[in-house]
Amino acid sequence: MAQISESVTRVIEQLSRLPGIGRKSAERLTYHLLRVPKAEALALADAIRAVRENVRYCRICYNLAEGEECTICLDARRDRTQLCIVEQPRDLIALEQAGVYRGLYHVLLGRIAPLEGIGPDQLTLEALVERVRGGEFREVIMATNPTVEGDGTALHISNLLAEYPIQITRLARGITAGSVLEFANKEILADALSGRQKL
Ligand SMILES: [Zn+2]
Repeated sequence: MAQISESVTRVIEQLSRLPGIGRKSAERLTYHLLRVPKAEALALADAIRAVRENVRYCRICYNLAEGEECTICLDARRDRTQLCIVEQPRDLIALEQAGVYRGLYHVLLGRIAPLEGIGPDQLTLEALVERVRGGEFREVIMATNPTVEGDGTALHISNLLAEYPIQITRLARGITAGSVLEFANKEILADALSGRQKL
């Protein structure tokens, strides 16, 4: 049996650990990387190294940041009376691309999912309560996904924040139940935001 080089096997193994990449795709990608100009393949390696070395979670909102705080938290033009709660940084990006929200965010880094053993303690809720307690927020907008788990998470958070003098709203159901924010188009997200309702 023909032996594949050890380096090639290593790349195939690493790539096949990525979500959605099976063994066959990993092989295809690896041979692709061997065919393209060396600089192109190394640019990918450099980009992976740079993202892991430079990017971390913002210490305030848990968005992705290069440095202690993210560009949104650092932006003095953002409305500091509105706080939008999302599950993941990619949901924040989807809302930012819709271009209709000018407030701040809080990223939960997940949602409460009892069936997967994910409880409230695994989210960034402690930091959220601290922010609401110490901040000047007038409105908290729940933009967790319109799924059973996203709804449950929104409800849990609205209970946590009930004692504070803020209005709690939920994105309108422009987004079909079960679909996720990151895949919704700009118009739908803009409608969902402008049509938000008291929770
Ligand atoms: Zn931030």
